[in-house]
Amino acid sequence: MKLFKGFEEIVEKDKPLASLTTFRLGGPADYFIVPQNEDQLRGVLERAAQTDLPIRVLGNGSNVLVSDEGVRGVVIQLSPKGFGGLSVTEDLVRAGASLSLAGLVRGAAEAHLSGLEPLVGIPGWVGGAVRMNAGGKFGDIGQVVERVKVMDTKGQSFYRERDDLAFGYRTSNISARFVLEAELRLTADSERRISHLMKEVWITKKNSQPMANRSAGCVFKNPRGLSAGALIDQVGLKGTRVGGASVSRKHANYIVAGKECTAKDVRDLIELVRKKVHERTETFLELELEVWT
Ligand SMILES: Cc1cc2nc3c(=O)[nH]c(=O)nc-3n(C[C@H](O)[C@H](O)[C@H](O)COP(=O)(O)OP(=O)(O)OC[C@H]3O[C@@H](n4cnc5c(N)ncnc54)[C@H](O)[C@@H]3O)c2cc1C
Repeated sequence: MKLFKGFEEIVEKDKPLASLTTFRLGGPADYFIVPQNEDQLRGVLERAAQTDLPIRVLGNGSNVLVSDEGVRGVVIQLSPKGFGGLSVTEDLVRAGASLSLAGLVRGAAEAHLSGLEPLVGIPGWVGGAVRMNAGGKFGDIGQVVERVKVMDTKGQSFYRERDDLAFGYRTSNISARFVLEAELRLTADSERRISHLMKEVWITKKNSQPMANRSAGCVFKNPRGLSAGALIDQVGLKGTRVGGASVSRKHANYIVAGKECTAKDVRDLIELVRKKVHERTETFLELELEVWT
């Protein structure tokens, strides 16, 4: 622990990551660090910079598959206590990176502000959601982002303003490693309309996606103009299993983990689905979830 001397309270060595992901799969991180504030984050980044250890940031782990062997280097998770704040000033909501999307949506609704309803039911945190532009058919978070506070791996923090931000399908142009906070410009609306839309989004999601299973949401991005789920279904792969992993019968773009599932089972199933879909439709499926090795 010489490398992180002085930070022992927030650093764990060989920390198992499975319980920190929604798949509940995968091995340990060499170093797992939970900074409580920006100074601590800067401090550990300065230490890590003296090495060539890779640095990753983990939110709620709902879009990652950690390999069974775990990940080398440093995994940083910004503490929800230190980075999970929420404040509302008129139509502007300021949210910390480690605030859950559920907490964010609830906070906005309580302030009678509309614009975040499309995020209902997405189990991520604000930082990961902004970086990946989380959302769905009702809209995505990028539509309401006003500015984002970020920090690079040298520990420098700065703002990225709306004019200079670009959000696409499950992607953004935020390249600094850490999103620390996001400011979201919302629209005043009635409590009744907001809760009606939230219910609609929730019911749509619950009816079409296996929300109760262990997964990381959609595995593949939708190819332009097509639905990855529909392609996988068309090829007849719903219910296909490899070990403890199976293609969901409810939504073919979800891989769900059963008992005894390993990350390798999921990766092998991903490759099988890709191969079959490519053979039969000549479409290459690009991953939406991230595989950490
Ligand atoms: C049941 C289920 C349903 C889902 N439904 C949807 C959906 O409808 N729409 C959708 O878009 N997604 C969906 N997802 C996927 C996932 O919830 C989203 O992608 C979410 O935004 C990921 O947030 P996270 O905090 O879990 O990020 P993680 O999975 O922890 O990380 C994802 C990526 O973001 C990066 N990251 C995380 N935190 C930060 C930060 N503070 N700063 C910079 N980078 C960061 C990570 O390094 C990684 O690259 C679903 C997942 C599940 C399990």
